[in-house]
Amino acid sequence: MNSKIWLSSPHMGGGEMKFIQDAFDTNWIAPVGPNILGFEQDLKAYLNTQNEVVALSSGTVAIHLALILSGVVAGDTVVCQSMTFTASANPIKYQGATPVFIDSEMDTWNMCPKALEEAIKSLILKGKKPKAIIVVHLYGMPAKIDQISAIAKKYKISLIEDAAEALGSSYKGQKCGTFGDFGILSFNGNKIITTSGGGALICKTEELKQRAIFLATQARDKAPHYQHSELGYNFRMSNILAGIGRGQMEVLDKHIEYRRANNKFYKEELFNSTDGIHVFKEPNENYCSNHWLSCILIDESKTGFSPEALRLFLLQENIESSPLWKPMHLQPIFKECNYYGNTIAQSLFEKGLCLPSGSNLSSIDLKRIKSSIEIFFLNS
Ligand SMILES: *Cc1c(COP(=O)(O)O)cnc(C)c1O
Repeated sequence: MNSKIWLSSPHMGGGEMKFIQDAFDTNWIAPVGPNILGFEQDLKAYLNTQNEVVALSSGTVAIHLALILSGVVAGDTVVCQSMTFTASANPIKYQGATPVFIDSEMDTWNMCPKALEEAIKSLILKGKKPKAIIVVHLYGMPAKIDQISAIAKKYKISLIEDAAEALGSSYKGQKCGTFGDFGILSFNGNKIITTSGGGALICKTEELKQRAIFLATQARDKAPHYQHSELGYNFRMSNILAGIGRGQMEVLDKHIEYRRANNKFYKEELFNSTDGIHVFKEPNENYCSNHWLSCILIDESKTGFSPEALRLFLLQENIESSPLWKPMHLQPIFKECNYYGNTIAQSLFEKGLCLPSGSNLSSIDLKRIKSSIEIFFLNS
């Protein structure tokens, strides 16, 4: 049996072990220490921003903190892109707030600005003006962030950018995660860089950063004893994991190059002349995607096969692929929630497939993927 080709697997390669060793040598085996500060500085420099960065234990908790810092409390409404991973939406529920989901548009597969504004207007009429907007840069593709920022400003609503999949992507040269009032990153095992598990919050001021760290470390009052006047959380990143992050930052740009090369391979070498298969790509030169995952849309009426048939075939060849994220408004857990838009997110889900996209795919892996898919085409 051929070895497994994964959708997206961890890829070390910088000085990760050196930074971990430093943590051991100095005994900073804790959610405080020099690697955390170093990782935050590295991220801030990489994002080329005045904004501040807070290293946390996951992307999910970063969204949770962004909601808290946006003033979201029980009973509030928060609008969220429907087409995403459930971690974008779950923290709305953790706060006891109500999610309202928004359809995607075809250019970027992300939040449709028209449906967003329609939702806001309609919610205001119902006396339920949203407290926050969660927009996602799915698969690394920047959303229509100009238009969405303008809407958030017009209605004075906090904008949270879920850039969990989009570290290194940019729109008009500005890095994803730095547009909104808050941005979040994820360093989970399958993301563009990984700390095994981890995340970061991006915020506008040093004051907000200190507030985020205070809440993320159990909200301890200034007193010699343990005293708490507010509800705190245990959300800070560990100094050991931040060491992995510092090592990963050394290879981030190289890994993005590899991911972009994978996308180019699918576009130009594999599906360049396949009728009915569309490789997801940037709508124009304003958008730069890290191409975290390379995705295709399959028009079954032209190809004669479904995305699921291709997925199952590849699985037999020991090649992992995956359906696109199932939209939140179609999830059993969110079936009571309101939804604005049409059927774009749903049809993307029905037609889409994510293909192996890791920065560690070898040219032999790519050849194997190509020949497997060609065999599948011949037989279908
Ligand atoms: C991975 C991911 C998250 C959550 O990040 P974790 O670090 O796994 O908690 C949130 N949103 C999106 C879109 C993601 O892909």
